[in-house]
Amino acid sequence: MTFKDLGIALPILKAIEEQGYTNPTPIQEQAIPILLNKKDLLGVAQTGTGKTAAFSIPIIHHLHTDQEQTRGKRRIKTLIVTPTRELAIQIADNFTAYSKHTSIRNTVIFGGVKQSRQVNALRNGVDALIATPGRLLDLMNQNIISLRDIEFVVLDEADQMLDMGFIHDIKKIIAKLPKQRQSLFFSATMPSSIVELSKTLLGDFERVTIKPQQATAERVEQGVYFVSKPNKPKLLIHLINERPTDSVLVFSRTKHGANKIVKKLAQADIKSAAIHGNKSQTARQKALGEFKDGKLRVLVATDIAARGIDVEDLSLVVNYDLPNVPETYVHRIGRTGRASASGIALSFCDKEERAYLKDIEKLIKQQVPRMPEHQFVDGDEGENAQEEQKPQQRRPSNNSRNNNRNRNRNRNRNNNKSGNSNSRSSSNRNRGSSNRPSRRDD
Ligand code: AMP
Repeated sequence: MTFKDLGIALPILKAIEEQGYTNPTPIQEQAIPILLNKKDLLGVAQTGTGKTAAFSIPIIHHLHTDQEQTRGKRRIKTLIVTPTRELAIQIADNFTAYSKHTSIRNTVIFGGVKQSRQVNALRNGVDALIATPGRLLDLMNQNIISLRDIEFVVLDEADQMLDMGFIHDIKKIIAKLPKQRQSLFFSATMPSSIVELSKTLLGDFERVTIKPQQATAERVEQGVYFVSKPNKPKLLIHLINERPTDSVLVFSRTKHGANKIVKKLAQADIKSAAIHGNKSQTARQKALGEFKDGKLRVLVATDIAARGIDVEDLSLVVNYDLPNVPETYVHRIGRTGRASASGIALSFCDKEERAYLKDIEKLIKQQVPRMPEHQFVDGDEGENAQEEQKPQQRRPSNNSRNNNRNRNRNRNRNNNKSGNSNSRSSSNRNRGSSNRPSRRDD
């Protein structure tokens, strides 16, 4: 199937072509016809699947087609709500790219910066608004934004918004929407709280589910090192030095941990920067910009701050800490291997994180390939690692693009070896604790 077959207006097709997209991704193939048909949609999908284009393209199509009939001052007809500023900026960039040959205008608003520039952009008139919940409500309360003309509404990354404590804000926003509208609801996971929330937004809807393993295991080559906590910095430095040309995104479970990693890397003459909720918006944007431009090779991020990161040619993701929520692993490794590209994700697993690894393997329905013995193994870590290594040993090379042919072989070989119920219960005890974002990042 091609984008042409979907019946999208020509100026949008032209923009898609300029983006270099040849074929729709599975979520685009399934969601675009539903949305062009003006039906509500429940999308169970994560970032990295092409979901931004899946919702933006049909909305731009409707705005463009309807605009030909209506004149006068621009009204905010589309609202896209997303949890973090990085993600909001990312969506706005994509929306602008897909609508560049139409006269549709959008703007983006988020907290942590002065509102004046955002208010000016709104006063000039926009068709679409991309917003984080806190700043949106704030400007609604000041009567700067009204939702009365909204025709299309998207709640993006709904599970993350709930995790970040936005539930009340979201409910207040939904309450202000006009009854007559097309509603889209996206979430990577569907626990009961999310199902409940989706019911308050959606009318008669259709559902599209893109399974996590389709988005990750298909494209991302994975590996895990068993390493003790004190040896993690040495292994990281070794891996970075081994790949002098690669851009590396390192995930840390905590903000403090991210700062510590940056310091350790600096001691080894490796320049890096951390992005997390305690950094100013300017510092975060600067670090992200330098990373995207290739000026900064290593970026250290916490899960929330990394949500909006979309970097072309991101070759390596390192999970310095394994997340205790398995879905987070899928989100993280989805930062590499975007859309049709491939990538490598390497994880560090210390003794305390073994149960998390089991949970992850159960979710992705494959064993993460064990990386070969390395010089930083010591004590129990090494012995256990050896035992686990026996089924297969494979090591992704520096060049991920040349490295895909072993992937299916390993996946088949390792399928369903994991999923031990004891470990599951042990890590379930920890769920919702340290790795769950507890503060608003808006
Ligand atoms: P998203 O899931 O929206 O974060 O998109 C992930 C990445 O896929 C972004 O870098 C998009 O530019 C890219 N992308 C979206 N749709 C396509 C497509 N049909 N073909 C190739 N790349 C795409």
